[in-house]
Amino acid sequence: MARVCVIGAGAAGLCAARHLLAEPSLGRVDILEQTAQLGGTWVYTETTGYDDFGLPIHTSLYKSLRTNLPKEAMGFPDFPVPESEKSYLPAKEMLAFLQLYADKHGVTSHIKFNHHVQLVKPKAGGPRGELWDVTYKSLVTGVSETREYDYVFVCNGHYNTPFIPNIPGLKDFQGDVMHSHDYRVPETFAGKRVLVVGAGPSGLDIALEITTVTPKVILSHHLKEQLKTAFPDNLVQKPDVIKLEGKTAYFQDGSEEEVDVFFLCTGYLYNFPFLHQSCGIVVEDNCVEPLYKHLVNIHHPTMCFIGVPYYVCAFSMFDLQVRYYVRSMSGAFSLPTPAQMQQHWEQEKEERAARGYTRRQTHMMGPDQEKYYASLAAEAGTKTLPSVLTKIREESGIRYLNNITSYRQDIYKIIDDDRYEIISNGKRE
Ligand code: FAD
Repeated sequence: MARVCVIGAGAAGLCAARHLLAEPSLGRVDILEQTAQLGGTWVYTETTGYDDFGLPIHTSLYKSLRTNLPKEAMGFPDFPVPESEKSYLPAKEMLAFLQLYADKHGVTSHIKFNHHVQLVKPKAGGPRGELWDVTYKSLVTGVSETREYDYVFVCNGHYNTPFIPNIPGLKDFQGDVMHSHDYRVPETFAGKRVLVVGAGPSGLDIALEITTVTPKVILSHHLKEQLKTAFPDNLVQKPDVIKLEGKTAYFQDGSEEEVDVFFLCTGYLYNFPFLHQSCGIVVEDNCVEPLYKHLVNIHHPTMCFIGVPYYVCAFSMFDLQVRYYVRSMSGAFSLPTPAQMQQHWEQEKEERAARGYTRRQTHMMGPDQEKYYASLAAEAGTKTLPSVLTKIREESGIRYLNNITSYRQDIYKIIDDDRYEIISNGKRE
């Protein structure tokens, strides 16, 4: 009987386990989770830096966080987020949802908590010609052991290793430098002049939150246009920072500002510190390769990565990726040969580059997501995701940019697989 290792018990790992456990003939499943709790990103902690076992804190949640997508686009296809009056939920409700999902599908009892995966290494053997040695440490006993597996699902998340841009003068900046990964509450910034860099969902939430405790917040971003939302008077938008000197930031438009805190909301890096180089996976400028369909390790197809694409309907995409891969395990369809997968991957990269995507955007879906879902489903002979999910994701993204301070009051209702309606300010749209 095959043995399957799932690394991580966030939404992706739970979803992998849910489908694997539903088909016991596929093998025995171990879910290795380094923390004491399931839910990954959605587990809030006040602690920053390192945990009690000396591991970097995984979650990047701040205390006030509410989802930046409506819950209607955040469930699993076979397990939607339960009905409630709001669409944008506090993080603790998303965590409760994941706990419910894991319990309902009998996943929780299969998770080895406080088990940190240290090393994953391929070796020859087994019915498929390759096996995996997975070395993990029980953080409670301090004992490491190595077990052999037939398949490895990499589900370790990619919102935990801060991306620090190369800004001249950053190293010698005379004020405080921090990244949103370590942000929890605004009070730390009381009375300080804060420069927030980056206008993604975290950057905007945090910049707005800090305006409540400090006289001046500068939001630097390279969105094509200034955001039109009516921001509080103490929030000023600026273009990119070109250099720092002492405590002064110099901007692309020639202006300058003296600040106390340089606050990077600049996103995260894909990071797989436990993969031995013989796994054949290289990460460069946030491009993880070679991955067939952003999912299958082309050099070692008995390893898959769940959740690499972004700007997607995350949990539903995890579900589709898992269904795809599990169907390949069960023999419902065969993966192409490594040479064919490599050719497909190269073509996909070329095609994306021709459309202006940078290397850093290799795994960005956004407008490509529906095509991506359809291609996975068609190849594996499984159901794609209902288009209403993508539609809600797209519309909510536009409404968010147009009204950052109040978009979370919108309520979404799904009508059928294609249609939805929005109730905004009490009016149906
Ligand atoms: P994670 O949730 O990061 O889970 C990975 C798990 O792997 C963790 O439990 C971790 O402890 C474990 N792990 C890592 N390394 C090891 C190891 N070596 N050994 C053992 N275990 C390991 N998405 C949305 O759809 N809507 C939102 O509103 C939204 N808001 C977000 C807000 C913030 C601030 C952030 C950071 C992300 C947000 N996301 C949102 C994205 C969110 O991360 C994904 O939706 C999803 O929860 C990711 O799930 P995951 O399982 O891939 O990763």
